[in-house]
Amino acid sequence: MIPASALDELRARNPVPDIAGRWVSLRRGSRAGRFIGPCPLHSKDPHAKDSTSFECWADGWVCATCQDGGDVIRLVELYERLDFRAAVQWLGGAQEVDPAEEARRAREQAEAKARAARDDNAFRERERADLWSRWSEAKPWPGTPVDDYLRLRRLVAPPGALLRAHPALPYVVAATDAQSRSGWRRLHSGPAMLAAILGPDGRFAGLHITWIDLAQPKGKLTLTHPETGEALPAKKVRGSLGGGRIELLRSAAPTRLILGEGIETVLAVYRALLTSQIPLEGMAMWSAISLGNLAGKAADHSRLPHPSLRTAAGRVKRVPGPEPDPASKAVPVPDSVVDLRLLGDGDSDPFETRLAMARAERRHARAGRRIHIAWPEPGRDFEDMLVSR
Ligand SMILES: [Zn+2]
Repeated sequence: MIPASALDELRARNPVPDIAGRWVSLRRGSRAGRFIGPCPLHSKDPHAKDSTSFECWADGWVCATCQDGGDVIRLVELYERLDFRAAVQWLGGAQEVDPAEEARRAREQAEAKARAARDDNAFRERERADLWSRWSEAKPWPGTPVDDYLRLRRLVAPPGALLRAHPALPYVVAATDAQSRSGWRRLHSGPAMLAAILGPDGRFAGLHITWIDLAQPKGKLTLTHPETGEALPAKKVRGSLGGGRIELLRSAAPTRLILGEGIETVLAVYRALLTSQIPLEGMAMWSAISLGNLAGKAADHSRLPHPSLRTAAGRVKRVPGPEPDPASKAVPVPDSVVDLRLLGDGDSDPFETRLAMARAERRHARAGRRIHIAWPEPGRDFEDMLVSR
């Protein structure tokens, strides 16, 4: 047994950004003490400037794509493929700690933890208030550029969908130079489709934003960073995503739920249902925003080698498997749902998507509930599939 105090000392000696920074290029995050960048475990390009999936701070890390996180020891375990003891050795080994030093460190840690929790809460509340005011400024979408965007994509939004049109939403990025006092730089301002994200408790938790440019073939803004030249995404998610959902077709106590990853996928299926005249009573249709949110995290032991992908270190990438971790966050499927349809999106890696959908199926299984997974087959879309079922 390594005493807890020795492990704390080892962690304090090896801040996560220092260790992860040996493997990937990290950038300062928007919160104090946070760093973001490519993930040492899954990213193909360790120096990609637009990666945001991996976030770390002095004593922890998370990756939204790996759906994983932990302390520095866990990061070394996963990256170097070592067991716990070997990872501790790799980090310089555990050292004896004298009791006075131990007490001092415990005090310091408790204070730092309390401070971080306060900062975190304050940050989250500020962010939520800011996003709520953006949502309040926005208008119903009929007759706005959002309407035109949907029409261009041949999509229809159900009346009552939690979507709105913002006339001129700023697009900001973290400033790369020291001149910006706010730490942010505005690159664009224009019409945007806002989708409200509801948290697991049903409260407003954040926004999914799509900037619109109707001159583009897909109707979405194309933007490049003026300094780095990198292509910037037309969509952003802000606020608390964990366990969140976007309600597109709403029903108070749905018996049927169609749950997909992206807004557009779900809306395409909605249009197909309208055309096929399948009755919509008691049906809800939600976007889970991300695959991780649809399926939740995989259980610790449930990681499988990817058939082709490699990590930045050139090792076989291990991806989250089919066994769910019920303690992790995912979209909560209401108890009233007896018929659940999960939409497999074609956007993400097919191998990982299949595992995530298998995980979602197990996670959301209940007695008396039927679960189907719908896949868009090559050359077909959800419209054909749902109509022929
Ligand atoms: Zn990762």
